[in-house]
Amino acid sequence: MDSELKTRLSGIVRQLAEQEQQRLRAAGTFVELEELACEIGDEVTRQLMSGQLSERGHEMADGGSQACPDCDQSCPSSRAHHRQLESSRGEIEYFDPAYDCLVCRRAFFPGSRIDRFVRSCYGDSEVDREDRVGGE
Ligand SMILES: [Zn+2]
Repeated sequence: MDSELKTRLSGIVRQLAEQEQQRLRAAGTFVELEELACEIGDEVTRQLMSGQLSERGHEMADGGSQACPDCDQSCPSSRAHHRQLESSRGEIEYFDPAYDCLVCRRAFFPGSRIDRFVRSCYGDSEVDREDRVGGE
């Protein structure tokens, strides 16, 4: 981790420690203190992941209309679809733009490429290979 980020984080952590002083002081053992610190760290991780996944989903959808993958009809984004993923740090929730094709009467999710991104990180070789050749 670069020193600039460490410096910024130390300011955030100092502020957090002041706000959570009571809970931190209540931890009576090293293990309890470590568990609380990890709980806080995991929440920070989940919030960072959630924000990034939502941003990437919206970037992939590009905010405008999208062509239906079945009939190529142009469809406007109609809603944010709530998604959940299980990570090593717990459940991550984020929002993906959803599109409804009125011709095919189906919903589709351009941001679902995020799913392949996630699976490829966990070693799904088939997904990995698909992404290298351009994927969807
Ligand atoms: Zn369609």
